[in-house]
Amino acid sequence: VKKISRRLVLKFPRRLIDRPVISDVVHKYQLDFNILKAQISPRAEGLLVIELSTGKEILDSVIRELKGCGVIVESLAARVRRDDDRCLQCGVCTGLCPTGALSRDPESQYVSFDPEKCVACNLCMDACPAGAMQLDF
Ligand code: SF4
Ligand code: SF4
Repeated sequence: VKKISRRLVLKFPRRLIDRPVISDVVHKYQLDFNILKAQISPRAEGLLVIELSTGKEILDSVIRELKGCGVIVESLAARVRRDDDRCLQCGVCTGLCPTGALSRDPESQYVSFDPEKCVACNLCMDACPAGAMQLDF
């Protein structure tokens, strides 16, 4: 089975904080995972940013199961933004972006950002000299 990696933002309501929701799905589906961020808010809700690597169908099942438990599941990529006012149009990011989400139009030379293609790999955020690529939390 071809593996894909997805970075997900999981929000846990208070009642799920003490439940082993993640370890249950990790064991059940034998998932490769990497926790990128974990925090509990003052209102005792949990937030986890996790990278899962598995087949597409399994990933869909995992997401369905998490949602069924009451976890709010979002794609991390949906939170990647470009601040157009900051962008210098330097093109540094276009050579790094693995999916073509950042690309330069050969005619107009304009560097555009297509959020639909972004997989939230972070490469542009680390490299952008203007801090124009941001994660909106
Ligand atoms: S690296 Fe930053 S400043 Fe340069 S084109 Fe990309 S988003 Fe714009
Ligand atoms: S986060 Fe990664 S995939 Fe998304 S625009 Fe930046 S380099 Fe491309």
